[in-house]
Amino acid sequence: MSDIDILVSEVGPRDGLQSIKSIMPTEAKKAWIKAEADAGVPEIEVGSFVPPKLLPQLADTAEIVQYARTLPGLAVAALVPNFKGAENAVKAGAHKITLPLSVSETHSQANLKKTHEQVYDEVRKVVELLNTLPEDERPDFEGGLSTAFGCTLEGKVPESKVVECAVKMMELGCDEVGLSDTTGYANPAQLRRLIKLIRAEVGDDKLQGVHLHNTRGLGLANTIAALEEGITTVDASLGGLGGCPFAPGASGNIVTEDLVFMLDAMGLKTGIDLDKLLKVRDIVIAALPGEEMYGFTPDAGLPKGYGSGGEKGWGIAA
Ligand code: ZN
Repeated sequence: MSDIDILVSEVGPRDGLQSIKSIMPTEAKKAWIKAEADAGVPEIEVGSFVPPKLLPQLADTAEIVQYARTLPGLAVAALVPNFKGAENAVKAGAHKITLPLSVSETHSQANLKKTHEQVYDEVRKVVELLNTLPEDERPDFEGGLSTAFGCTLEGKVPESKVVECAVKMMELGCDEVGLSDTTGYANPAQLRRLIKLIRAEVGDDKLQGVHLHNTRGLGLANTIAALEEGITTVDASLGGLGGCPFAPGASGNIVTEDLVFMLDAMGLKTGIDLDKLLKVRDIVIAALPGEEMYGFTPDAGLPKGYGSGGEKGWGIAA
């Protein structure tokens, strides 16, 4: 992390693939993940430990985690909906696990079939499990605050509720919390407020990451707001593949290629080679015929003289 300014976490193999009907073959997933790691992407959320009956697209997550672990320097993240998922993620060797709590309890019940209290019980059990592991085998445990900016079922989500959930997740033993705009409702002012409010309660270093969607075109504007508040980890999905199957109308994470272009142009180091990253799209397009891939930078191409001389911060004043 020391040689990069912003950690771009690729979530396409999880968030992207879970939201589309096509099932990507395991070998194509491996090729995708390897190509992104080769392009310098430092962290990839490679899957979710949900029952294959619910998400057949991610049925091979354990195998994918094990494979991704063999790629040098890559931090391998996975989503876990509950204790059972966490157990399997630990067995497979994930470096980081995220258990999402839907701040909207209605969404939580519709999505995870669990009340907040029931989710907290799962978190407690996960922490107990992690505490039995030796330090070098213990994954980082993030409490994800999903539907933090609004819910397709409840509408407005009170900010006090988001803060309350963040505090509770930390009290139960999460290492950090992350803010998720599951539904694509977030705006930059709201991000600034929520980040400040949560950090005031849990500490700046316990909220480092945001997970944003580009549903209403505000993904990068929201990212800037988060960066200005000191956020250092940003989730994104190659080609904007992604969404939430339980939040109708919410489609598309922010596009990794556009995010990397923006950060690069601003002189913020990501460690990612954008030329190489753009070529990774071919793997995904070939493996998912007919699926929509988004992104302005891939469509427009890189600006004239981009990256010449190996200089970073291409867009900053000469
Ligand atoms: Zn998402």
